[in-house]
Amino acid sequence: MEVLQDEYLGMGSKVQEFENKLEDFFSREAVCVVNGTAALHLALEACQFKPDSEVLVPSLTYVASFQSITAAGLKPISCDIETENFLLDIKDAEKRITSKTVAIMPVHYSGGVGNLDELYEFANSNNLKVIEDAAHALGSTYNGKKIGSFGDVICFSFDGIKNITSGEGGCVVSKDKLLIEKIKDLRLLGVIKDSDKRAKGERSWEFDVKEQGWRYHMSNIMAAIGSVQLKRFPDFISKRRSLAKKYDALLSGYKEIQTLKNNYDNIVPHIYPIVLPKYINRDLLRNKLNKLNIQTGVHYFPNHKLSYYKKEIILKNTEDIFERIITIPIHNDITFQDQEYVISQLLNIIKKSE
Ligand SMILES: *Cc1c(COP(=O)(O)O)cnc(C)c1O
Repeated sequence: MEVLQDEYLGMGSKVQEFENKLEDFFSREAVCVVNGTAALHLALEACQFKPDSEVLVPSLTYVASFQSITAAGLKPISCDIETENFLLDIKDAEKRITSKTVAIMPVHYSGGVGNLDELYEFANSNNLKVIEDAAHALGSTYNGKKIGSFGDVICFSFDGIKNITSGEGGCVVSKDKLLIEKIKDLRLLGVIKDSDKRAKGERSWEFDVKEQGWRYHMSNIMAAIGSVQLKRFPDFISKRRSLAKKYDALLSGYKEIQTLKNNYDNIVPHIYPIVLPKYINRDLLRNKLNKLNIQTGVHYFPNHKLSYYKKEIILKNTEDIFERIITIPIHNDITFQDQEYVISQLLNIIKKSE
């Protein structure tokens, strides 16, 4: 309401305020942009890789990861995942390294992060930059440290369904001050030092531009929403964790349904996927659940099977899991009773199709 009454709707002091709060959260500098895809795109641009360089990325991710790579003039190289947490399989990625490979983009699926020490060791020994797609992983921790508070370049999303939202939005976090400064210019059409000037209300029409930039900045409206959401985040975290633990408990007796092997004391779950038994027709099941007012999703259609990114490769785990996966509802407004209803209806349908 303050922003609306002030009538400065675009990028101004509220964005800097939100960035300062994020900086406290991560203990590192953060740059806010218009969405998570823009965060990934600018992170890659700022690294200044040679055109057509290759980036290793799991195929089982939102198409945003892939689009950010091609937007930066680079080539996404689809990799397989591990079956227990749907995270990038490093052994598979290793097989796909060529002389053109410059970076690796692990996707922290549903907030899980896997063994990041191993991932960074792999990246360092192969001279690869790590761009973490942490769109799902705000609030998740690794060895007691927050995701974003360590590592190379980490990108978050604040879209409407992520762990916190600013309506739309995203940010890049890094220890690399030069990279952060570069992204600050790139998000404002390459106008040098425009971010600082706007925050101080000293914007002028005399400026210089030395490179391609994008109109990817965040607005005061978005930042104000983000700031309030960040304040409420501790409550969201405990809610999401308890919901995931509840689903785990409700499903623990049913060996035919596979769940992610995540420790919800350490990570914050963004989605809750389950892998159905092979004999279940997924579309039929989803329709039946929908008629019972239970909405489900499929996260995700493998990118190496999309027309734009098509590759004649077989990613065994990705393809096996993709055909049997559904995500069941997890969000701030759901109750334990709702969850019991979801699981009892789900098990009912499965039992009938045995
Ligand atoms: C949401 C998401 C993004 C992109 O974030 P937007 O804010 O929607 O642009 C990137 N990667 C993954 C895995 C996501 O889920």
